Amino acid sequence: MDKTSLFSIHEGKPIRCKAAISRKPGEALVIEEIHVDPPQAYEVRIKILCTSLCHTDVSFWKVESGPLVRFPMILGHEAVGVIESIGEHVNGFQQGDIVLPVFHPHCEECRDCKSSRSNWCARFADDFASNTRRYGMTSRFKDSSGEDINHFLFVSSFSEYTVVDIAHLVKLSPDIPVDKAALLSCGVSTGIGAAWKVANVEKGSTVAVFGLGAVGLAVAEGARLRGAGKIIGVDLNPEKFELGKKFGFTDFINPTLCGEKKISEVIQEMTRGGVDYKLRMRWFTFFIDRGFQQHPHGFRKNGNVGDR
Ligand SMILES: [Zn+2]
Ligand SMILES: [Zn+2]
Repeated sequence: MDKTSLFSIHEGKPIRCKAAISRKPGEALVIEEIHVDPPQAYEVRIKILCTSLCHTDVSFWKVESGPLVRFPMILGHEAVGVIESIGEHVNGFQQGDIVLPVFHPHCEECRDCKSSRSNWCARFADDFASNTRRYGMTSRFKDSSGEDINHFLFVSSFSEYTVVDIAHLVKLSPDIPVDKAALLSCGVSTGIGAAWKVANVEKGSTVAVFGLGAVGLAVAEGARLRGAGKIIGVDLNPEKFELGKKFGFTDFINPTLCGEKKISEVIQEMTRGGVDYKLRMRWFTFFIDRGFQQHPHGFRKNGNVGDR
């Protein structure tokens, strides 16, 4: 099946394809041949066109205990694919559609999904641990010996084919380059959403962003789109600063060059009293946030974002 075909010879049958399987925590992924079952009601089977690596994949690849640790599994939750076949009760999607799987569910029917003030689907969002959204631990993946392989975050894009519930799908224009669109699955939407929807950054305000990975850059982009006047980037790696300017950062702080001063003191001096919004990338604050927490004076809104 190519990107434009509306017909699949595999419809209703399992597909044999290759996937990168994570069999043990921290061990290299292994490319194996697997079976991908046909989609059931409210599901589609997707041929993955492009997938990217998010830090959350790396985190769960390493973690040895917890509800989402279920080896073997197929990681990957940022991707763009084309629908190969659809299950029953799938409305709004058809074979050949270009789609973006997203780990966060949207049932479209509950009070929260219908409201513009919430993005926490009351029906589905509390369950991150099942394999399939409506079928619990039932998996659509089997290895060559017939054993189940676990899904990850309802996407599992490190496979040539995957099965995704329609509550985790967004239809895309076929004109969008797939390598750029894949980042909308998690990193870019998390960052822009944090600035735009969660913090609700106001025009002319001052924003500090801790950590300039993909999510942090997207936070700056969101703040810039909202009209922030000053966007301060804090990161240990100064090589990110030049790139940061393209995403809207106006000022930068490298904590290793702050000497005896706490980062909060440097920011107070730069802003004459503090910023309006402080958005911290979770992995970054793990390393450097202690000195900042001790001087929270002057901040109106705080937020922790992502795991990238
Ligand atoms: Zn819902
Ligand atoms: Zn992610």
